[in-house]
Amino acid sequence: MSVVRIEHVCKDYLLGEQKVQALKDITLSFDPGVFLAIAGPSGSGKTTLLNLIGCIDTPTSGKIYINDQDVSGRTPDQLADLRGRTIGFIFQTFNLLPVLSAAENVEYPLLQRNDISRGERAKRVAYFLDIVGLTKFVHHRPNQLSGGQRQRVAIARALAIRPSIVLADEPTANLDRKTGEEILSLMKQINRTFKTTFIFSTHDKRVIAKADRLVRVNDGEIFALGVRSDAKWSLARNRRSSDTVAAQPQIG
Ligand code: ADP
Ligand code: MG
Repeated sequence: MSVVRIEHVCKDYLLGEQKVQALKDITLSFDPGVFLAIAGPSGSGKTTLLNLIGCIDTPTSGKIYINDQDVSGRTPDQLADLRGRTIGFIFQTFNLLPVLSAAENVEYPLLQRNDISRGERAKRVAYFLDIVGLTKFVHHRPNQLSGGQRQRVAIARALAIRPSIVLADEPTANLDRKTGEEILSLMKQINRTFKTTFIFSTHDKRVIAKADRLVRVNDGEIFALGVRSDAKWSLARNRRSSDTVAAQPQIG
């Protein structure tokens, strides 16, 4: 079973009269438990691809399956429940609610879930803030935390729903180099411990180096697929994305 399967997906945006082809015929599938980077320059389609996988947006054409469930024909509203149970999000700008404490930010997505009791919420908040090393900061507001600490809160918040997939859009772009590396290491450690699938976008070589699997995008197309073993990448490159994908459709 694939955790994510994308078949011939295109995404167009309308910008006034002009059509922007953000993704052009993307076909990919990811095995559960991967630690995967989507890499490419600014404007190449990384955020668009993550938003489609995260069911925040819908494709113009093509199919997307999350845990073998077809999500492509449904609206983001209809997918709110699946998102709230399955997908954790981490953003470049952390996106914490400024008036809430670290603990309240982590609890926030659990409040949408009527199957999780108050006691269970408190347990999860304490557990995941401990995992990200912030037990001493539970009552701090975002503006009382450093960038790295804010991103740790965001990681705890993403994990609190016990997602099968965590999506992170350029999670280190607003952090200094050392802090960025620490955040990546923490994500990898969580990936290994909980077998949670991590899909993150980046244009930073050092971040790419931490991934086990790589999808390179350029101008809305897949440019190369990479698999890493023993710190070495083997890359399948191509000019036309459909060739690579047909030859090597499974990333796992
Ligand atoms: P990346 O995350 O790699 O920088 P994006 O996925 O944000 O790339 O954007 C891919 C392309 O789609 C770019 O050309 C961008 O300008 C365009 N785009 C993204 N979002 C919109 C939107 N809401 N409306 C119009 N064009 C968009
Ligand atoms: Mg982006």
